[in-house]
Amino acid sequence: MNSTVAPTVHSIEAKPGHRLVPALVGTRASNQIAYIACPNWCVDDHTDCPTMLDDIDHNGATVGVVVPTYYESDDDHAWSARLMADPNATDPRSRAAHLAVGDETRFEARLAPSAAEKLADELVGFAAQLRQLARTARLHNQTAGDSDPSMDEALRRLRADKWRSLSDEDIAALPIVRLLKAFGVMVVEYDIAGVELLGEPGHMELRVGRATRQQLRDSEARRLIAEYAAGARRV
Ligand SMILES: [Zn+2]
Repeated sequence: MNSTVAPTVHSIEAKPGHRLVPALVGTRASNQIAYIACPNWCVDDHTDCPTMLDDIDHNGATVGVVVPTYYESDDDHAWSARLMADPNATDPRSRAAHLAVGDETRFEARLAPSAAEKLADELVGFAAQLRQLARTARLHNQTAGDSDPSMDEALRRLRADKWRSLSDEDIAALPIVRLLKAFGVMVVEYDIAGVELLGEPGHMELRVGRATRQQLRDSEARRLIAEYAAGARRV
């Protein structure tokens, strides 16, 4: 048995860009160590589980980027790429060194070196677009004045408390549109009879039955707001 090993080793050794490594060849029930030609970039430990000689492939180290998300309920995305070669594949492109590129959601894409170079060029363009989008988002947030979430919250509270400066007389006399604005009321039509007011100032909802006449809508809204204000002042 040991007499057949030496010639095999000798013939493989000549292959450039490869080294001889031990591999556990066979099945779990029956296997043995053999020396195989493994590309210099391969990081697999070919002895970690027994594999039939025809099924041994070679994998380089994985490189990649993580796409983080600020929603804790969602998983981060990861894009990865690595070198691969499957010496026993029927497709010559898979026998040659190629790239496996994946995003964890589907089967990996296999790319010949030329296709990988083209993808790399496109990713450079994508990176520039990504920067541009980030710049636009940053500018938008600065102009909108809500780049700071705590500032946002303070403004919201200030707006929500605006109604407290209104007297009962103001509530009775102000044009209905200004009154709704002061209390932060959104008017929504529902399939209900009459009018009801829900929520707290700043985010109140006035539910109005579709059949309710405009005049009644206005007077009911004013009455409900006055009722709310009187109740809230007592607290
Ligand atoms: Zn290998």
